[in-house]
Amino acid sequence: MRKKMSSSSNAVVTRRHFLEQLGLVGGTSLVMTAMNSWDLMAGGAQERPHLTGKPTKNKVIVLGAGVSGLVTAYELGKLGYDVRVIEARDRVGGLNWTVRKGTEHQEIGATEKQVCAFDEGLYVNVGPWRIPYTHTGVLGYCREVGVPVEIFINEAENSYFYYEGEQFGSLAGKRLRLREVKADMLGHVNELLVKAIDQNKLDMPMTAEDKDRFVKFLVSEGYLDPTTKTYKAIGDSGRQPYDTNALLKANIGTRFRSVPLTDGTQAAPIFQPIGGMDQFPKGLARAIGAQKISMNTEVISVRQDESGVKVAVLDTKTGKKSELTADFCAVCLPMPIIAKMDIAFSPEMLNAAKAVATSNSAKMGLQMKRRWWEEDDQIFGGHLYSNLPLGEFSYPSTGYFSKKGIILGMYANGPVGNLLDATPAQRVEHVVSNSSKVHPQMRTEFENAFGVWWKKVKYSEGGYATGSASARREQLSKMENRLVIGSAAVCPYSEPDWQEGAVSAGWQTVKTIHERAMKA
Ligand SMILES: Cc1cc2nc3c(=O)[nH]c(=O)nc-3n(C[C@H](O)[C@H](O)[C@H](O)COP(=O)(O)OP(=O)(O)OC[C@H]3O[C@@H](n4cnc5c(N)ncnc54)[C@H](O)[C@@H]3O)c2cc1C
Repeated sequence: MRKKMSSSSNAVVTRRHFLEQLGLVGGTSLVMTAMNSWDLMAGGAQERPHLTGKPTKNKVIVLGAGVSGLVTAYELGKLGYDVRVIEARDRVGGLNWTVRKGTEHQEIGATEKQVCAFDEGLYVNVGPWRIPYTHTGVLGYCREVGVPVEIFINEAENSYFYYEGEQFGSLAGKRLRLREVKADMLGHVNELLVKAIDQNKLDMPMTAEDKDRFVKFLVSEGYLDPTTKTYKAIGDSGRQPYDTNALLKANIGTRFRSVPLTDGTQAAPIFQPIGGMDQFPKGLARAIGAQKISMNTEVISVRQDESGVKVAVLDTKTGKKSELTADFCAVCLPMPIIAKMDIAFSPEMLNAAKAVATSNSAKMGLQMKRRWWEEDDQIFGGHLYSNLPLGEFSYPSTGYFSKKGIILGMYANGPVGNLLDATPAQRVEHVVSNSSKVHPQMRTEFENAFGVWWKKVKYSEGGYATGSASARREQLSKMENRLVIGSAAVCPYSEPDWQEGAVSAGWQTVKTIHERAMKA
């Protein structure tokens, strides 16, 4: 509900009221541009469950050593359960995958195998790469199990803005520095406001003194000339400011933001584990104990009856099949895998699993012979803002001033042309040719690359769960006798496209199993 603006001189001028007034001066489009860029994003974490009591039937098999499975196993272990984790891959983490020298990857249906040729010490996180400070579940575990973190630079003012297409006007196809366009936008808007105040065109509930203070703020915030109160890109020697209309047309507004109004997933600071995101699941696995995690063990089927659960598994190294038994089973597997597994869930549950769509995420890391983005462009972390078919293009927030580095040349969360069916070499050419429009060094300094298209990754068959969360959770989080799904798609609080979702799903699973076990 919107409150009516008071005419009292003491009334608080909210940002919305202020923009309404700005609309009277600058026209509606100016207001919309500013308002659209206030990203009210939700973050989220919940309280870790505090459970007590020890059930007599306490043997649990956890399927999958992704973040959700590891959290489930770790917390059940602390409660005194006899836990065993079953993981098909030769590594823990699932979607949390850090690629380094020697990492091998053969896509589903491909004959070619990629082998990572990055130099020792260099890596790319092909799944999760950022931990917002609001994700207290993940960060709490980093502290608890000893995973040191560092700052991830999510915005670097010196990075470039590059939009192609006639609709973006005179600035289209030009590299513009983010700090220049931010300064110019703010400068122009503030100049406009000062003019409106001087001409008494802003009908705002302010005393003459308030107005004077407000003008002083606008002048200093927008780097306006203190005498003429006009914007001239002061301190930026020789450069002419970009024209207001040209900036608005160039889509700058989509990147022009104040501090986020709410804590969310984009508010600074953002963190990353030192040495790669996989340090997080590795830390959890250490805390659980390696002897409790069976690697290279693929689940083939899951049966249940009144006496317990039977899980048939395949040792992927030896080809040997065996059967494991337990009282309960937490199914922390990806939805596309559950949907086609021989598993004793009801048709309703399997249909709900089938109905969950997963992201068509793809990432590519490219090793560069030298850190040209730092040496030539003075860019340290952050991203390129563009409409090139690359999704996110990012500079590493680690290893500053060292010799080489890995550029994240592409992070897309939807289809990009026919790249899903292209060869690794064709994908690299796509990334290099597009990014070279902004950074010609992408071609001249290129050494090697490694790309991951999650739809084609065995044991994942897609990225994170997408679509309506509440509908998905209602069915998927029910315990069916001795089985319960525990992967991020069923998380009750945070969204499943974050590891925080996997943590909250893990907590929910532990609670569900414990309540069931205490009744057994
Ligand atoms: C490209 C991308 C970017 C992301 N970015 C971020 C980010 O910046 N920050 C963030 O917090 N989150 C991010 N996420 C989301 C985050 O990665 C996920 O929400 C989280 O990792 C999901 O964990 P999970 O345990 O639910 O599932 P998974 O990680 O999928 O774990 C499932 C496990 O089951 C195993 N498995 C599969 N089949 C079998 C079988 N038959 N037998 C035995 N084991 C099996 C798999 O190997 C895997 O280990 C991103 C995800 C993607 C794809």
